[in-house]
Amino acid sequence: MNMNNKAIIPPGSIPPGSTIGIIGGGQLGRMTAVAAAELGFKTHIFTPEQNSPASEVAAKTIVASYDDASALKKFADNVDVITFEFENVPAASVKILAGLKPVRPGWQCLEIAQDRIREKNFAESLSIKTAPWAGVNNADELAAAIKTIGTPAILKTTQLGYDGKGQVRINSGDDTAKAWAELGTDAAILEGFVDFQLEVSVICARGADGTMKTFDVVQNHHINGILDTTTAPANISDELSVRAIETAEKMATKMDIVGLLAVEMFITADGDILINEMAPRPHNSGHWTQDGCTTSQFEQFVRAVCGLSLGSPERHSDAVMKNLIGSDADDWEKIISEPENKLHLYGKRDARPGRKMGHVNRLYKKGSGPQV
Ligand code: AMP
Repeated sequence: MNMNNKAIIPPGSIPPGSTIGIIGGGQLGRMTAVAAAELGFKTHIFTPEQNSPASEVAAKTIVASYDDASALKKFADNVDVITFEFENVPAASVKILAGLKPVRPGWQCLEIAQDRIREKNFAESLSIKTAPWAGVNNADELAAAIKTIGTPAILKTTQLGYDGKGQVRINSGDDTAKAWAELGTDAAILEGFVDFQLEVSVICARGADGTMKTFDVVQNHHINGILDTTTAPANISDELSVRAIETAEKMATKMDIVGLLAVEMFITADGDILINEMAPRPHNSGHWTQDGCTTSQFEQFVRAVCGLSLGSPERHSDAVMKNLIGSDADDWEKIISEPENKLHLYGKRDARPGRKMGHVNRLYKKGSGPQV
């Protein structure tokens, strides 16, 4: 294979044989590194964690804190392009990296995705609906916000929350000062509780030339704020599916994403689409694409970040992805004994409660998957 064939590789692209730098060492980085290896790329990981899931499958890892400027420089010196499996990286660090190597996606979308209030303002600037919300910075502001938003409501930290962490549910009559103290932050958002009919997500890939390829809309079920299952495709009308895809693509275009954008949405009984949150990277609700689509979200991510042409996102099978949380992964033997199951484990040693240890994609003939 001639890796330098400029006639078929788009100008400015990063060809196979190059090295992709991934910020973050979790399972998303691990699966991206595997997909990158399949296309002939090497990966280097930057993570504060020793023995991270991604470093097990990467050529090299730098273990340092996200604000270690000299480690970031060393990392950038040895890669051809930089991306993220984790968006909560300090702005100053991204600026250092961007001065040394192409960073995709860029800082603008990370800045929005890092903060729930910026995310909501961004959605509203595009006339995209969200839950009713108010920014709150102390217990008095919380009490005032509850008067306008009502209960039930969810109080969330504006930054660094994930998998239901950094959230407190507030019901009618609850002690708001106690709820505020429980969250332990000075920057929060109060969201009205959306009485949604279902939760869906859309993952679109956007290439360096603005081309977009979007996976089918999928339906998500959470337990205690953690994703439990994703069913592909979602059991929604074609009209809703088109609107959900248009919403995600509009957001990706506006932020000039080069990479992936995952958008989580609530669908109400009236057919309204409300944005919950977004992530400019591979997403847990896209893991089914590994076994259900022509191109997985991880391969698509690598293609986009490297400026290559995007693959087909076509769904060739229906699928249900189930997360294996904590001790769920102990059942691996039973899971692989069923031939429709595709098991993915992340190589994590400690199966702590609530920790994502792996997932299983159960495949069905296209059009015959379960309707939930
Ligand atoms: P988040 O971390 O914001 O994605 O929240 C995790 C999960 O909690 C969501 O997927 C929903 O199931 C639920 N949730 C979060 N915010 C709301 C809301 N405003 N109304 C109803 N359910 C919510």
